[in-house]
Amino acid sequence: MSAEYQVHGDVAVITLNNPPVNGLGLATRQGIVAALAQAEQDAAVQAIVLTGAGKAFSGGADITEFGTDRAFAEPNLHTVIAAIEQCAKPVVAALHSVAMGGGLELALGCHYRIAAPGTSVALPEVKLGLLPGAGGTQRLPRALGVEAALNLIVSGETVKSEMLAFVPGQKLFDKLAASAQSLAEEALAFARSVASVRPLPLVSSLPCKHPQGDAYFQFARNMAKGMAKNFPAPAKCVDAVQAATQKKFADGLAAERALFIELMWGSESRALRHLFLAERAASKIPDVPSSTPQRTIAAVGVIGAGTMGGGIAMNFLNAGIPVKLLETKPEALERGIATIRKNYEAQVAKKKLKQDKYEQRMALLSSTLDYADLKDADLIIEAVFEDMGVKGSVFKQLDAVAKPGAILASNTSTLDLNHIAAFTHRPQDVVGLHFFSPANIMKLLEVVRGEKTANDVLATVMAVAKKIRKTAVLSGVCDGFIGNRMIERYSQQAGFLLDEGCTPAQVDKAAEKFGFAMGPFRMGDLAGNDIGWAIRKRRAVERPDLKYSKTADLLCEQGRFGQKTGAGWYDYLPGRRDAIPNAEVVAMIEANRQAQGITARKISDEEIVQRLVFSLVNEAAHILEEGIATKASDIDVVYIFGYGFPVHRGGPLCYANEVGLFNVVRAMQRFGQNPLDDAAFWQPAPLLQRLVAQGKQF
Ligand code: NAD
Repeated sequence: MSAEYQVHGDVAVITLNNPPVNGLGLATRQGIVAALAQAEQDAAVQAIVLTGAGKAFSGGADITEFGTDRAFAEPNLHTVIAAIEQCAKPVVAALHSVAMGGGLELALGCHYRIAAPGTSVALPEVKLGLLPGAGGTQRLPRALGVEAALNLIVSGETVKSEMLAFVPGQKLFDKLAASAQSLAEEALAFARSVASVRPLPLVSSLPCKHPQGDAYFQFARNMAKGMAKNFPAPAKCVDAVQAATQKKFADGLAAERALFIELMWGSESRALRHLFLAERAASKIPDVPSSTPQRTIAAVGVIGAGTMGGGIAMNFLNAGIPVKLLETKPEALERGIATIRKNYEAQVAKKKLKQDKYEQRMALLSSTLDYADLKDADLIIEAVFEDMGVKGSVFKQLDAVAKPGAILASNTSTLDLNHIAAFTHRPQDVVGLHFFSPANIMKLLEVVRGEKTANDVLATVMAVAKKIRKTAVLSGVCDGFIGNRMIERYSQQAGFLLDEGCTPAQVDKAAEKFGFAMGPFRMGDLAGNDIGWAIRKRRAVERPDLKYSKTADLLCEQGRFGQKTGAGWYDYLPGRRDAIPNAEVVAMIEANRQAQGITARKISDEEIVQRLVFSLVNEAAHILEEGIATKASDIDVVYIFGYGFPVHRGGPLCYANEVGLFNVVRAMQRFGQNPLDDAAFWQPAPLLQRLVAQGKQF
């Protein structure tokens, strides 16, 4: 049982004990019901206090029960709350630290609530595409008032108990304790003070009205819809709270239940729940147990102060870890440091960073031209030119100066990490840390495991990633790792779509309607079309079997590299990022079509999206089969956090599961018959074929 029962004189104390946050899993729910029954039977007990051990009152649902039958098994949370409401003796919830989701709903079922100041209170279900499903939408408006409750429920944001205690007329808290330390004593005293009150007060019996009634809810619904374009949950939260104002309590609960189930079965919530678990799972490496010892990272060196090096350094400065930046020339160092300064100053100007914090961060930054100065660094990350010769010279020098046990990392995007590790006598200490640009902003970090990378190095960098607030995903060594290897297939399809009849704007519009942050051509212009050009030149030598459209090369031959040259697939005005279609580019695409004897055809948005997304899916299946990614959900995390894949679709593989793998393969076979496409590429990956044959999913 994950709920403890103790008697203090005439008060029984039920303490939830299911670390880390007293999630309301089945055993905890059973424990509460059993302890309540015991307290009711115990003649000496006059009142009951319900509280939580350790770091929370309760953080709500137990995430290990997500997607399992246990989540709804009896006694479910409704049953537990009903048992509390029907208890003949007063039940006082003593809240501290965290009272969220089901934890707050549980407290709302108690007859009284006393809270420690500083308690984080929230109903965050909307963030998983759901609404509070255990009476939260019906009880919180009664306890806190309609507007404040709606705000909490629709936003899912956390508010401190002392702020809520000041909401006029609120009945959420009967008392605010003087401090977290005195909560237990105060709760006992409060319980004694209400021991003989009858009838016992119930939140569900309180009135619930809004003076503007339906007009207010229509307004709130419009706001919610406007802010949550692709997600139905916020508007449904409004519906549920409105039901609380219109219906009897029991009917309101039924309405909440119906709305909850509707959301639970919707693809958007499925996607969000998938990503919630996927992000947590990403930091776990199957053969690197959580007990693996970690190395201490107290000082970091960064080599190369260019686009990536500066951003990488900022991550560590932001986390309070000192960074030494190394360059070959003083001018390059000065330029790099000036850029870091400029980035921070922009944050200060926007009031996103306080002046003193900015100064503290800059004080942690030092620079050098001499490798010997890196001798104390625990982690050294290289971000120099993407050239094996240059990387070799850097790693040989690092091998000579770095202290034993220092982790040597490369930010290479395309080069063979095993080759890089072999420049040193300590390949076990070498790892890839592939940041994404801008490195101080993008959440994704691909951690690249070389053949010889030690387990404690991996455990350490996974923990460091968390410290610098990155979402890290493990990748094996291959060209492009997980993300860029897949995006090459996507760009290849984007090119074929131009050859066959689309304009860049049409392709981008279809992709953006699907939900991508940016279509492939706007993304190319942002990243720089010259990068893909260099890759295609390399591929022409290494992989002459691969087919590409010529349009992107023709574009680059005109110097149209994208935003940085003011012109790419689109035109850009100085200082602006709006993509303006260019008639000459469209004419160039048409001329290229004619030169190949292709007659343009009209291509539907559906075909555009399927070709783009299924190209990602097929390459992902190869990546999984080769063991480059250790699990399908890692690939979804890469695409959501690094490539602007629509969150409500849950990532390319989650989306493929939604569409049905049988349908995905059928579409691939159809695309493979298109003579202008790449038949070999559309051959479904063996893993995909196996999954379809077995009726399984990714
Ligand atoms: P960049 O040209 O902006 O910066 C490279 C810096 O390294 C320059 O300042 C240069 O002076 C310095 N440098 C070169 N040789 C050096 C040496 N021997 N010792 C010390 N400093 C040296 O390049 P970048 O875009 O920052 O890319 C750096 C690395 O990051 C490359 O491996 C690249 O593939 C990778 N990467 C780039 C991106 C991106 O979007 N730019 C994204 C992920 C990874």
